[in-house]
Amino acid sequence: MDNLVDRLAERARSDGDRIAVREDEVALTYAELNDESARVAALLRDEGVRAGDRVALVMPNVTRFPVAYYGILRAGAVVVPMNPLLKAREIAFTLRDSGSRIVLAFPQCADEAVKAAAEVGIACLVTDSTAFDARVRATEPMPGSVPRAQDDTAVILYTSGTTGTPKGAELTHRNLLTNAATAAETLLQVGPDDVLFGGLPLFHAFGQTCALNTAVTAGATLTLLPRFDPARALEIMHRDGVTVFLGVPTMFTALLTTGAPDDHDLSRLRLAVSGGASLPVEVLHSFERKFGITVLEGYGLSETSPVAAFNPPDRPRKPGSIGLPVRGVELRLVADDGTTVGPGEIGEIAIRGDNVMKGYWNRPDATGEAVRDGWFHSGDLARVDDDGYYFIVDRKKDLIIRGGYNVYPREIEEVLYEHPAVAEAAVVGVPHEVHGEEVAAVVTLRPGAHTKPDEVRDFVRERVAAYKYPRIVTIADALPKGATGKILKREIVVG
Ligand code: AMP
Repeated sequence: MDNLVDRLAERARSDGDRIAVREDEVALTYAELNDESARVAALLRDEGVRAGDRVALVMPNVTRFPVAYYGILRAGAVVVPMNPLLKAREIAFTLRDSGSRIVLAFPQCADEAVKAAAEVGIACLVTDSTAFDARVRATEPMPGSVPRAQDDTAVILYTSGTTGTPKGAELTHRNLLTNAATAAETLLQVGPDDVLFGGLPLFHAFGQTCALNTAVTAGATLTLLPRFDPARALEIMHRDGVTVFLGVPTMFTALLTTGAPDDHDLSRLRLAVSGGASLPVEVLHSFERKFGITVLEGYGLSETSPVAAFNPPDRPRKPGSIGLPVRGVELRLVADDGTTVGPGEIGEIAIRGDNVMKGYWNRPDATGEAVRDGWFHSGDLARVDDDGYYFIVDRKKDLIIRGGYNVYPREIEEVLYEHPAVAEAAVVGVPHEVHGEEVAAVVTLRPGAHTKPDEVRDFVRERVAAYKYPRIVTIADALPKGATGKILKREIVVG
């Protein structure tokens, strides 16, 4: 089996009548997904798209996303997926940087994409429009696919990586195929009867590999939710008999503060998977209690397709841990000078394996900095226990240094989540004349809960060393979040 497209074609042969993907009333079987993507491939070919060309995709989680995604791959081109909430200026940056040849955009987010494409001087095809649909119907499906080797680039994911500006992580067919196969076979253990929850954005690595490509690899069904909302999520899990919930930690906290699962039939739900940011231990326990299922946490990055570590399902999970390196992937902890740290010491996670990107698109300098001797340097700090389980301590750049002492925000956030009134918490460093940095916490409260900043501060003070507790505590209505639902620490304003 050579690439992602072959995998879909095989599914269309073996499980043609099964539902591949649905969004509310719209559902596509594997045969339909395969056929429609072959039409999109032919249409792109007619537009002059050739092997290796980049095609931008600006789309929310709708059934058209996988059609376009597999269509682009089938045409031998490289998918450049983008957050559909981006403005024209941001889209134009990515179009220029990636040298995209054409854009496929969904009507609801087409205005900005059309503007951006015009600015860059390329065409933007608006899908699900009368004109587009008529063209798709009139186009004969492309027979087979434009051949691509396993080490050819399949997708370029834009990420700010460990250093500042957005860069395109080039992921090959091998990267994506092996990571999805690992997720399907060894981590989520998905089969054709599974229904995966598709609330994670498909333009991001986590949703793309663990929801979309994992479903296609296993012949499972993916049920999409274009904008995550906990009440809608419960309805969809009930309606479609979701078996595996996938989410970032803020989705878990949202589900904890919304509705009772008893109002819904969630009897098919067997597993919840968290990734993308650290899942507070308290949240893991509350979720397992409320939903009566196991939560397994994994870890990864756009640059590693993304899954690098996971709590394996055949061993007891360790709360607070990202688990063990996954199949075909090695992890080690390195010091600033590149040497492996001693037992019990904190170091930066370096990753080697089939999942590590080819490099940053057109950025040999940034690639050389991040990938050294085949090891990708993640910028995340961790320690490892005697069983080989990794524990993320924090991101290198989030580390707060207060009066010469290291304070890892994650540790303080874990304590804040233990406070009965706290729904979400983020700890950041703010400049301080004497200490260099001061520890500040911003929290949101559970519905109906009341507390005062001083009371929250004292709660932490009683539980951690004196230099660590947040001197500044702010209670906010909401925390800033990125497209995947991760809390954006850089945008937190301490008031
Ligand atoms: P992205 O490239 O958007 O997927 O972001 C990758 C970053 O997310 C990593 O470098 C980590 O900082 C963070 N991350 C992913 N999974 C976890 C996890 N389980 N625990 C803590 N941080 C995580």
